[in-house]
This record gives sequence, C-alpha cells and structure tokens, in this order.
Amino acid sequence: MQIYEIPTGTKVFDWKIPKEWNIRDAYVMDEDGVKVIDFNKNNLHVVGYSSPLDKIVTFDELQGYLYSLKEQPEVIPYVTSYYNEKSGFCISENQRKSLKKGNYHIFIDSELKDGSLTYGEILIPGELEKEIFLSTYICHPSLANDNLSGPCVAIQLSKYIMELNKRRYSYRIIFVPETIGAIAYLSKNIDSMKRNIIAGYILTCLGDSGKFSYLESRNGNTLSDRAALNILNSLNLEYKKYSYMERGSDERQYCSAGVDLPVCTVMRSKYGEFKEYHTSDDNMDFVNAKALEGSFQVMKACIIALEKNYKYKVNYLCEPQLSKRGLYPDVSMKNSATCVRDMMNFLAYADGTKDLFDISDKINVPISKLADIVEKLIKAKIIRTVYSQSEK
Ligand code: ZN
Repeated sequence: MQIYEIPTGTKVFDWKIPKEWNIRDAYVMDEDGVKVIDFNKNNLHVVGYSSPLDKIVTFDELQGYLYSLKEQPEVIPYVTSYYNEKSGFCISENQRKSLKKGNYHIFIDSELKDGSLTYGEILIPGELEKEIFLSTYICHPSLANDNLSGPCVAIQLSKYIMELNKRRYSYRIIFVPETIGAIAYLSKNIDSMKRNIIAGYILTCLGDSGKFSYLESRNGNTLSDRAALNILNSLNLEYKKYSYMERGSDERQYCSAGVDLPVCTVMRSKYGEFKEYHTSDDNMDFVNAKALEGSFQVMKACIIALEKNYKYKVNYLCEPQLSKRGLYPDVSMKNSATCVRDMMNFLAYADGTKDLFDISDKINVPISKLADIVEKLIKAKIIRTVYSQSEK
C-alpha cells in the first residue's frame, strides 16, 4: 500500500482539506477529582474534531457540552463536527442522568493545525489497463461494523487478488476518510478513473449478522450493479434493495453528476438502519468472523464473475451437433439432461451481443457453472470469444 498525504488548505473541487486534528487527552472531572468522563476509557467520549478546552463550568453549563441519546439510554453516541469548530463530550443518557449537581472541570487536550489528509492506495496490475475499483473508509474511531469491517474485507480481497495467477483487470483499492477523502482522491485521479474503471464497490458494513443489502449506483444498471445482483441472486442470498436516493457513503461522490463512475454497494445491514449504528454498541461484539467471511465470499464471487465476463458467439448456424463432439451424454439421465439443457440454453443466447451476466440472468444458471460450459464449448470450437474494442 502506498500512503499519500494531501496538505491542509489544498483545494479539492468545491472543498478544502481541513486542518489536521490530534488529541492526547480529554475528561470531565467532578468536584471530588473523579473523572466522570474519560477519553482514555473510550475515545467516542469526545466529539470528533473538538477544539481544545480547559475550564470550570456549572452543572447547567455542562449540559451544553454533552451529547447523549434519549432513545438508546445505554450507549455512547458517535458525534463529529468537522466543519464547525466545536467542543463536546458524548455519554450515555443513563450516565448523564446520574451526574450530580456541582461544578465540573472540562478539559480537552487537542490540537487543530496545518497538517495533511492521509490515505492509502493499493494498485494491482492486470493484463488490461481497465480497472475494478474498491473503496473503503478509515475515519470512524472504535466503530466495528460501520467502519472497521470495510478495511478488513478490503485487505482480505487485496490478498486474494494479488494471489490470482492471472488477472485480466487491474485493481485500484483505496482507504480514504469518508467524503473529504473520496473527494480529494477523485480530484487527483478523476481522469484515469473515468478512463479505466469498469466496475467498483464501496466496502462498508460487512461484519454484522444481518441480511445483505444492495444499494444501486446512480445509473442503476452498470456492470457493477449487474454483477452484484447476479451474484446475490445466484448464491440465493436474501437481500434488501435500496435505491440511490437512500445513499449515504462515498457513492455520493463516485456517482455524482459528471463523475458517473459505475459504483454500487453490497453490505450487510445498511448504515443508518441498524440500532447499533454510530454508537458504542457498534463494537467487536456486534461483528463476527462468520459474517465477515460471508461478505468476503460475495465480493470475491463478484470479482471472479467480472474477470470471467465476456461475450460469446456461436460458430455455426442452427444448433451444433453436440454428440459428435462427445458433449451429449450417451445415456439420458435426470442430471445429464440439466447439463445439456443449460448448454443448449447458453448456446441459444450466445449471439455475440449478450455477456455472461445477461445470459446467466436469462437462463438462471450461475456464472460459476456457465464458466465450465464456456470452457467446454471453446475447446470444442463451437463458440468464440467476442472481444471489446478496449481488449483487443
Ligand atoms: Zn458512518
């Protein structure tokens, strides 16, 4: 992974890279010298991007610095304030109610100064310049599903892609702070991204045990949408479909008007839709290895399918004679009949205009199975691959 720094103040489209925030310590101390809120116990206790603070406040004044959730009295909410210089503390509603009257020392040892925005990029070359793009974000502290699960699956996918013997596509995998990071990355790379990316996915919320969710790209029918839907359907996974109007992560930038990248999202429970979202309950107990593995398998299947996706054309008019090529079973059995039917159905649609996703969706046979059929038919010289302009 290559690490990049973009300095504070750099203009990125309509935005500017903000000051860099660093924090060493923060607490709220009561009159007895007890730290009732301590950043060192949980870093969600401080509003992200809080300015430095050191003063004595009354109980009533303290209330103006506190953020809690009435509806979920046991959790610490995750709150940030990137573009208004503000300071505050986040606590559970229950703890808030237990605070005694009296004066409090509120203290935040933080620093907002010129620095840089940091992001990581993994580029894995393939035979073609055309790319598959994966983007995940790295900005939520101590939050497991909405955030850490994304980088976790991204790293595992990177390893998988690097170990492939043959890669048709190149891969671009990035780790950016959400929103400003995606905008900054686009502002540096938009030309090559628009030229090369054929499909892309946001990796987020991949570690909880919930059902899958699919959030379409703005155009809705891009190659990445078609691959995601084909895989979710062919693996018989239950999933909920969300429209682009329900977007919330970096597809907001990648799919924006004029950028128009083919980027959609496959996740478990969608951000904002699970009650642990953006609270201290989105922790390591909320995610599990089995769910992460399942998500990894779905994304991996999308990548394999994209790598195998071509258009094919039959070499003969009318049905080819399968038996003289040993492709027709000598004896007819239930199972062999299905194989032949799948092969004949594939041939019926292999007219050079439909790709594997089209045919897989149409004849209801998974790409993994179609790939075996294709291999046999190519070997028997019954079909040929139709390459696109950019491939040959
Ligand atoms: Zn979030």
